[in-house]
Amino acid sequence: MPKEYNFTEIERKWQSKWEEMGIYHYDWNDKVRGPFSIDTPPPYPSGELHMGNVLNWTYFDMVARYKRMQGFNVLFPQGWDCHGLGIEIQVEKARNIRKRDVPPDQFRAWCIELVEKYIGMMKEGILKMGASIDWTTEYKTMDPDYWRRTQLSFVLLYKKGFMYRGTHPVNWCPRDETAIADAEVDHVKKEGVLHYIRFNLERSTEYLLIATSRPEFIPACVAVEVNPKDERYNNYIGRKISVPLMNREVTIIGEESVDPCFGTGVVQICTYGDKEDVKTVIKHKLPVIRLLTTNGQISEAGCKYAGLYVNQARAAIVADLTAAGLLEKTEKIQQEVGVCDRCKAQVEILEVKQWFMKTMPLSAAVEKNANEIPWYPDYMKNRLIDWTRALDWDWVVSRQRLFATPIPIWYCKSCGEVIIAQESWVPIDPRMEKPKVDKCPRCGGTEFTGETDVLDTWMDSSITCAVHAGWPDRADWKHLFPASMHPSGTDIIRTWAYYLMVRHLALFDQRPFNSVLINGMVLGADGRKMSKSLKNYAAAPEVLNKSGADATRQWAAGGGATGSDIPFRAQDVEYGRRFLVKLWNVAGFASNLLANYKPQEKADMELELLDKWILSKTEKLTQKVTEAFEKCQFNIAVEEIRNFTWHVFCDYYVEAVKDRLYKSEVYGAANRAAAQHTLYEVLYRLLQLLAPVTPHLTEEIYQQMYLDAKGFKSIQVSLWPKVNPALIDEAAEKDGDLITVIMSEARRDKAEKKLPLNAPIKNLTIYAGNAETAVIIRQGCVDIAATLKADNIKVLAEKQPEGRKVGQSEVYIKTEY
Ligand SMILES: [Zn+2]
Ligand SMILES: [Zn+2]
Repeated sequence: MPKEYNFTEIERKWQSKWEEMGIYHYDWNDKVRGPFSIDTPPPYPSGELHMGNVLNWTYFDMVARYKRMQGFNVLFPQGWDCHGLGIEIQVEKARNIRKRDVPPDQFRAWCIELVEKYIGMMKEGILKMGASIDWTTEYKTMDPDYWRRTQLSFVLLYKKGFMYRGTHPVNWCPRDETAIADAEVDHVKKEGVLHYIRFNLERSTEYLLIATSRPEFIPACVAVEVNPKDERYNNYIGRKISVPLMNREVTIIGEESVDPCFGTGVVQICTYGDKEDVKTVIKHKLPVIRLLTTNGQISEAGCKYAGLYVNQARAAIVADLTAAGLLEKTEKIQQEVGVCDRCKAQVEILEVKQWFMKTMPLSAAVEKNANEIPWYPDYMKNRLIDWTRALDWDWVVSRQRLFATPIPIWYCKSCGEVIIAQESWVPIDPRMEKPKVDKCPRCGGTEFTGETDVLDTWMDSSITCAVHAGWPDRADWKHLFPASMHPSGTDIIRTWAYYLMVRHLALFDQRPFNSVLINGMVLGADGRKMSKSLKNYAAAPEVLNKSGADATRQWAAGGGATGSDIPFRAQDVEYGRRFLVKLWNVAGFASNLLANYKPQEKADMELELLDKWILSKTEKLTQKVTEAFEKCQFNIAVEEIRNFTWHVFCDYYVEAVKDRLYKSEVYGAANRAAAQHTLYEVLYRLLQLLAPVTPHLTEEIYQQMYLDAKGFKSIQVSLWPKVNPALIDEAAEKDGDLITVIMSEARRDKAEKKLPLNAPIKNLTIYAGNAETAVIIRQGCVDIAATLKADNIKVLAEKQPEGRKVGQSEVYIKTEY
């Protein structure tokens, strides 16, 4: 083996060889091995791969590689979730236009161009990480062939009664001029102003004081409410009160949900200032005044304020209130406002005609299914359950955008009848194509308008479990459905995990996945959110180029408990790199000593104490690592293997057996064979256990040292080791531990005397404390002598507290140099 560990060369080589070998292809014809399918999230193409992506794909890939070695037929697919506001906004910014400025086709073409570029960048990063994806499965949600699936699912859900069109209040982004779902609203803390405004009572000189942070909504005031238990105000319930500046009156109503302690305890109900207004309007059957237009201006309903944008209207109304003597005072408050998760504009609530998916009736089923499957870590399931319980509205699935899957619907121009595409029509774009019918089935009309609204991008990505399994094209798609594992980030549980659940439950009456793996977010080294402006940003391509995939993957695997947020620390990657160098060096050393070793000739098993000791510990390590992988505790798996490799295998075993391997004339061929056998098998086991985490280096060593004997074309398709109970030897472990603490005590002695570790010891006297212990220590003398370079070792049974005490034992040692 070459002396230097050249990770760039090794990693590139294996990435392309694995692809040539085709070992990551799911075998669609194999019905013998059990399938294991990973519901890989199709990411939004957003440019360069970032460290968050590195964390996610390392998780997915470790599971895929581990399961493959467990003998499963693994499906690890990869798609790209192309559509969405994010891309539209970036195209607008890059070209300095608004989407309505250019023909829609041109705009879509620019979106596709940008998405293709971003996919190229992200794919390069994912390949560099060495993810074992089956690239024959690659798909893009913007391709008409994928539209086909999204549209088909829409048609089927429509037929099952889950899709409806209605005029309901929805979250609305005025900047992007589109409806958005609850899940796309971020809540941010902001400083606002509370205005105390006089509302005069009808036929009276009395007034009530109302505190509001949104005075611009006064023109849409439809009622004033107080808590019926609030004795300051409950005698006003039922009376009329005039809306300031508007020359009209509304009724004062009683409503238990009013908090008497907020503001003045008197509240204006406007359509719609917030979600509470929506609830009150529905409950008390109040009229709706549509105050805002779709681009965030005041409508005709706002009388003299019509045409102003929200902020302008606020200023104008506050000025008029002040002039009229109706503004009593203002005060600053901290408030939470909803903003669009893409463009950060403040979200408004508008009542508009939209397409909805009936999701509220599925909430109980979502919760039940979430509870029935394992989550890694378990507590994360509450995020889905809490979100589901908190939802008030059905899912608004239509969007007023361009770059998206079209809704396969037309309307009859004369009677308004809805014409839905037949299953055989899709993919189809009603914005450009006519429905394949001669006339309207209701009125016989022959002219139709295609739906110009398009589908929410989550409508594309929330059928992945079925799509990955081969739906709707493969008759046997249920073989891979539900997906074995759904990996999700803490940030997308409320969207992706939730939408997958409701979509598949509605479509197939079956949950989409049988387990969930959650990853946290990647933070900067300072524990804050990673961002370029905070100067704590690490660019994934730079990290991968500098330290290689195997080192970086160790950071991802070992950076923290699964599901927790993980800081990116360059020193973690560096530690990973140094570990690989250590492993490379020890493998080089072993391959020299094992040059003529023929593993097929069963070693004559005269195992020495330390052989039995490390073989037993290796079995226990295997058990711990297997359990950790089963529970997706990657940090535990990687720490166990690294500590064992470094501090048990390299520090003690390899040092101890050097003499036995170099000097067979002294110790005999059988003894040497036992050491060779042990060295060979333990190293192989470590490579196997590490293979899911650091696939490249383990493959390189495997190919150089083990290919012929073990016979698997890649370590990645070798069979995961089963714990061999016959090799577990508690007595050998205990006795071997004593030998190693004697070694470390002597090493400490050298260190304190400022001697190098390989400094020879002329005489080493070991006082065992009793005859029994002396027998044990004598079994390890050869190894102790080799490790410590001790010329003479004397083991005495007597108890003599002299020299250095060895750990917790009764053993003492004395050294002479
Ligand atoms: Zn927006
Ligand atoms: Zn008609």
